[in-house]
Amino acid sequence: MNVSIVGTGYVGLTTGVCLAYLGHTVTCLDTDEKKIEMLRAGRLPIYEPGLEELTAAALPNLRFTTSYADAVPSAEVVFIAVGTPSRTDGNPDLSYLRAAAMLIGDFLGPGFTVIVNKSTVPIGTGNWVESLVREAAPDGRFAVASNPEFLREGSAIEDSLFPDRIVIGTDSARARELLETLYRPLVEQRFAVPPFLSRPAGLGSVPVVATDLASAEMIKYAANAFLALKISYINEIAELAEKVGAEIGQVAKGIGLDRRIGARFLQAGIGGGGSCFGKDTAALVSTAASYKLEMPIVAAARSVNYRQRERVVEKLLGELKILQGRTIGLLGLAFKPFTDDLREAPALDIARKLTSRGARVKAHDPVAMQKAKASCADLPLIYCERAEQVAENADALVVVTEWPQYEALAWEEMRTSMRNPLLLDGRGLLERQRMERVGFRYFTLSSGARAAMKAAAAASAVVGRGKWSGPEALAAPGR
Ligand code: NAD
Repeated sequence: MNVSIVGTGYVGLTTGVCLAYLGHTVTCLDTDEKKIEMLRAGRLPIYEPGLEELTAAALPNLRFTTSYADAVPSAEVVFIAVGTPSRTDGNPDLSYLRAAAMLIGDFLGPGFTVIVNKSTVPIGTGNWVESLVREAAPDGRFAVASNPEFLREGSAIEDSLFPDRIVIGTDSARARELLETLYRPLVEQRFAVPPFLSRPAGLGSVPVVATDLASAEMIKYAANAFLALKISYINEIAELAEKVGAEIGQVAKGIGLDRRIGARFLQAGIGGGGSCFGKDTAALVSTAASYKLEMPIVAAARSVNYRQRERVVEKLLGELKILQGRTIGLLGLAFKPFTDDLREAPALDIARKLTSRGARVKAHDPVAMQKAKASCADLPLIYCERAEQVAENADALVVVTEWPQYEALAWEEMRTSMRNPLLLDGRGLLERQRMERVGFRYFTLSSGARAAMKAAAAASAVVGRGKWSGPEALAAPGR
């Protein structure tokens, strides 16, 4: 099929490349000329594992443009994947969506077109998009559908090719049929699996959830709010665990093995970040408020999440007593591993809190430092090319992003180069006993340095502790 994608960011680019890989003819459109120039020159504007290889494989079916006149008239399906960032009142900024919808209307071709909203938008936005397109194209033959995206940055290709479900929300039978045709190779899993991936065991076909527009829009918000809730729930339990002397890793394992609950998103730590959880939970609360409804559970998940960042500072203060003039090293800047996305990254928030208290902050990230330098010029961070340099003359180290390569750092060398061997593992990435053997005063958000040593002795008696959950369970993936 002939498909255009409006907005070539994390979602639009991944969607476009995957659909082209599946054999569709795809045009990716963006108003950012630099981005399109880069893509035309064969360079990717984002870091996403596997995307480079898949783009190369899909290239015969893929092109990039900045022109609506070029992308829209001949498309049978036009996806909208522009950003919908939060405004200060919690509602998403829909100005990019409005501009995209109006321009799609201006350039609509004579054939029937399905306009698919992939951006995460408040419930009711599908109807609004329809009215905007209709205003620009009073005689246009089109229908609007909602097809929310659930990919996680860092495993976006895998999530797109092997999704848990595909949600198609529309009131038009014709639009639904066209989207079902578009997604058939995915639904039936009829494609050659790229060499860097393997199909999840037992995945025969992908369920399609066909709904009306409003339900599809609600599914996306409700799913993200639930995931945010799970992260905050375990963090709330972790705070109590610290007070009563329980070990949160063991508690989480004991909870997560219950299949009704599941182990994922139950890793206590610094909490979630990224472009979606914060914005989507804010939007849900604010949509509810416009109907005079409160959503106390979602609101609490938000406040617990943001409090975790404050707790990092409190923990450091508790150990160091004074932050003014101290040097703190941050390992990791991206909001989760395997991405360079810094939107709502806890590391940036923590760095701001520390510098405002007079601390010097050194930082390292394997892929996000260039973006940080470009987008956080106001933040006086000292960037270190090698992760080990973050430790030099530092009074404390904080693991903020659980990049797996941090496990293999020269920890001995790092400890000896520090002024004070204090290590706050904000993600439960490292093995406590190993770090203590190296000579660190190791602690987490749910245990002080001394309590951690006591807990370590108890934990050593528990079989299978440590790596029971995969990296994505450790992360707070943003969707
Ligand atoms: P992004 O900021 O990476 O990309 C958005 C792109 O849209 C940018 O390249 C921008 O230049 C372009 N754009 C803006 N206005 C445009 C216009 N009028 N015409 C053409 N292009 C335009 O955003 P993203 O992370 O890809 O998110 C896009 C949407 O998908 C958001 O609503 C987000 O909530 C949702 N979402 C994101 C993720 C994720 O992990 N990033 C996951 C699921 C859903």
